[in-house]
Amino acid sequence: MLKENGEQMLKNFAETAFQPTITEITNGIYHVMGYAHSNSIIIEAEKSVILIDTFDSDARAEKLKKIIADITKKPVKTIIYTHGHPDHRGGAGAFNDTVEEIIAFAPKKPILGRMNELNDILDKRSAFQFGYHLSDEEVITQGIGIREGLVVGDGKRAFTPPTTIYKEEKVSRTIDGILLEFVSAIGETDDTIFIWLSDSKVLCCGDNYYGCFPNLYALRGSQYRDVSAWIDSLDLILSYPAKFVLPGHTKPLIGRNKVQEVLSNFRNAIDHVLTETLRGMNKGLTIDELASSIKLPEKYAHLPYLGEFYGTVEWSVRSIYTGYLGWFDGNPTNLNKLPPKEHAVKMLELIGGEANTIKEIKKALSNQEAQWAVELCDLLLSAEREIKITKKLKADGLMALSKLETSANGRHYYIACAKELLGN
Ligand SMILES: [Zn+2]
Repeated sequence: MLKENGEQMLKNFAETAFQPTITEITNGIYHVMGYAHSNSIIIEAEKSVILIDTFDSDARAEKLKKIIADITKKPVKTIIYTHGHPDHRGGAGAFNDTVEEIIAFAPKKPILGRMNELNDILDKRSAFQFGYHLSDEEVITQGIGIREGLVVGDGKRAFTPPTTIYKEEKVSRTIDGILLEFVSAIGETDDTIFIWLSDSKVLCCGDNYYGCFPNLYALRGSQYRDVSAWIDSLDLILSYPAKFVLPGHTKPLIGRNKVQEVLSNFRNAIDHVLTETLRGMNKGLTIDELASSIKLPEKYAHLPYLGEFYGTVEWSVRSIYTGYLGWFDGNPTNLNKLPPKEHAVKMLELIGGEANTIKEIKKALSNQEAQWAVELCDLLLSAEREIKITKKLKADGLMALSKLETSANGRHYYIACAKELLGN
């Protein structure tokens, strides 16, 4: 979201949300945060260690091995992936010498066919969203954790495929004396699970909760993230008598009351966005009207774990709209729109030509109306007029917006596109 002090808010979040910390949660269970983009959970069993998620790179997983060695000399024999995102699996290869079983769940929904034909654009948009080609200063933070190892010269991804893939809703296993329940729970991904350790009342929730407004939609582009199912998963998590909830990013929740309070607010904030979007859609409001009007209620907006530093409400509303109704907003004007160039040429004629538009863009930039400036730039770019100066002005506008954007993903996207426009 755009805020006057958006950049400073993001800096404040990054400084406090995932400081390097190893926490002994309860007997033999440790939460490790801030040493990689994602967290890892160490469970000391009778003769071995069970590891939940593995950090994002081999070099960082080597550091995790040292952290484990300081706790126990027992080898890591079991790895559990909370979901398939690479930042949670990229360090697994570092444990190949001892690991005997790697457990994961299959996605609950099929992946769209021919997705691989989009590899180029998905790679580009991922790099833009995560700021892979930006400097540390430009990035501030990679959203909900420190930058991934592979972009800062701290190792490479070392994937090891799972040896056990479950399709069930729920699986109970006793592994080396530890009773574990794996529960399928759609959230950020369709293969997400949470892990319940009933003896210690610890629940490892993967990315179904982390301490900021969730990425209900990813700018990099992905299949629809089912927000209704995500809320159901949070209800399922809330139905367990957890005293400790250990997320895949940001800090653990410690204490029964804290768990209930934080997860309930987190769940209700998402529910508010879904409910308001569906209600507005049902009344016939358009995607743009809804995206610009739906906000978190004040009681949620000010909570430190619901800041819009990763996902945002506005992009979530747009995603829900298209997820349920598709691209058509119901306005027949949009059934057969003028091609962008034709529309832009006519608009430029109407508003007094290129020179007048460039004057207005410069005025908007000096009046801190960067969004209006970049929208006018798009008219010139679509009309293919004054391209060189317009690219420079649009880059200025995007950089101005990057200072206002609270979401790390949005910030990266603005800066990466500005650099692309300038040919850097
Ligand atoms: Zn994650």
